[in-house]
Amino acid sequence: MSTSEYRQKRDLSRSGEPRGSSEPSGEKPVFVIQKHDASTLHYDFRLEVDGVLKSWAVPKGPSTDPSEKRLAIETEDHPLEYAEFEGTIPEGEYGAGTVLIWDRGTYQNITWKDDNLKPMDKALGSGHALFRLKGEKLSGGYALQRIDDDEGHWLLVKMDDDEADARRNPVSTEPESVVSGRTLEEIAGEEKGPS
Ligand code: MN
Repeated sequence: MSTSEYRQKRDLSRSGEPRGSSEPSGEKPVFVIQKHDASTLHYDFRLEVDGVLKSWAVPKGPSTDPSEKRLAIETEDHPLEYAEFEGTIPEGEYGAGTVLIWDRGTYQNITWKDDNLKPMDKALGSGHALFRLKGEKLSGGYALQRIDDDEGHWLLVKMDDDEADARRNPVSTEPESVVSGRTLEEIAGEEKGPS
């Protein structure tokens, strides 16, 4: 897997985003969800797979309610270092707007097939992956199910397990960054400096 598409789309000397070296992040693969106030607000859901962050844009953000199926649109692989990125991509650059680290942690692949664990790249390649998140806002099982290969459309759905909770709605009740505690407005304001 490669992040050449990521680099082609951006002027990294101007955007302030990481270039990326693709060193594995550690023992357990990481996930990150970045709230991105671009031309339309969305949540970028990213899973570490084979040295890159596989990425989807989730317009409504993830849910903790198993009956809520959230559209997730496949986007280009991002370098692992992107999981650390919070800040404002300047106007005129690709994806211009403010990025907030809404949740992050590690995940475990639980895509079992006939007593064998299907590797994450193969699971995603076949359009169906199950994994357990261990984040600050989200935890427990989630499924990614491809619904349209040509359009890169998937559904991100909470599995019905102990961590499922139809009453929680963290996207609206927990808007702050898990890294800095800031809101999108605060990040945007701080980066512009005093007016
Ligand atoms: Mn985005």
